[in-house]
Amino acid sequence: MTFKQLQEEILELKRQNEVTILAHYYQPIEIQEIADYLGDSLGLSQTAKEKANTDYIIFAGVDFMAETASIINQNKHIMIPNYESYCPMASFLTPEKVKEFKDRYPGLPVVVYVNSTAAVKAESDVCCTSSNAVKIVEKISKEFNVQSVLFGPDANLADYTEQMSGIQCHKMPEEGHCYVHSQIKTEHLIDIQSQYPNAKILVHPECIREVREIADFVGSTSQMYNRVKNSTQDEKEFIIGTEEGLVERMAQDFKDKHFYLAKDKLICYNMKKHNLELIKYVLENLDDKAFEVRVPSEIANRAIKPIEKMLVFS
Ligand code: SF4
Repeated sequence: MTFKQLQEEILELKRQNEVTILAHYYQPIEIQEIADYLGDSLGLSQTAKEKANTDYIIFAGVDFMAETASIINQNKHIMIPNYESYCPMASFLTPEKVKEFKDRYPGLPVVVYVNSTAAVKAESDVCCTSSNAVKIVEKISKEFNVQSVLFGPDANLADYTEQMSGIQCHKMPEEGHCYVHSQIKTEHLIDIQSQYPNAKILVHPECIREVREIADFVGSTSQMYNRVKNSTQDEKEFIIGTEEGLVERMAQDFKDKHFYLAKDKLICYNMKKHNLELIKYVLENLDDKAFEVRVPSEIANRAIKPIEKMLVFS
C-alpha cells in the first residue's frame, strides 16, 4: 500500500471515530500531512485543550509531550502511536535528582523545561519552553527574590537562559543535553556557510554556546519557523540548526526560500518511531490501553501547577 493510500484510510478512520491527530514539527512529513494540528510540544498540548473537541487525541511526538497533553486534558484519551518513543534528554533528570538539588540549594526556585517527565514537573515550581525560558526565569527569580534558580534538564538551554537573563541557572544535571542539537559544532556551520555565504544561520537554544554565538538567530522551532515566515524578500537562504523535520516543513511551506541543514542526519530517531501503519492501528484499536498515556492523578494534579504558572507568566 502506498503512503497516499494509507493516508486516505487514516483520514477516513479519523473522521469516522472522531479523533484529532496532533503532530510535532519533527515528525516525518507523511505524518505531518495527515495531522489536524502541527506545532511544538507545548503549543500542541494547548491545542489539545483549546481546539481539539474530540475525546480521543493521537499525539505523534515523544512521551513527555503526550504526558503534558494528558496533564492539561485529564478528561481526554491521549494515545501515542509508538509507546517506545521517549526523549533521552528528559531521562537526564529524575524526581530524586531534583530533590537532591533542592536539598543542596534550599530556597531556590526549580524551573523545568517542558521536555521533562510528569514526575519531574510535579517537583518543580514552574515549567518553561525553549521560547519563554528567559522570561520565566526572570519572573520566578523576582517572585522568590533570588538571583539564581535551579534549571533542568537541558544544560545548553540553562546556559542560554543564564546568558540572556543574567540570572544564574544551576544545571540539573551538568551533563543534560539533546543528542540531536548538541551534535552541531561550529565547524559544521563554518563549512556550510562557506558554500552559502548569504544564508542566515538559525539555531535552537539546545545547541552548544559556540554554535549559538555564530548564529544570526537563536529560537525554538516555532520561533525559527516564524523568523522564516517574516523574512524579507532579500533573505532567500537559511542554514537550519535543528531536527530535519522542521526543514522539510519549511521547504514545503516557503517554496521561494532555500534551506540547508546545519549538519547531515540531524534526526531525532525517537521522534521517528511513529509511522502511518501504527497510527492506523491505533485508530482501529482505540480501546487498547497499551497506547494510552495517562498520568496518575496524584502526579498530574501536582504537575499541572508549574505548567499553569508558566502560562500565567507567559
Ligand atoms: S529532539 Fe532532542 S529534546 Fe527533542 S525529543 Fe529528540 S532528544 Fe528529546
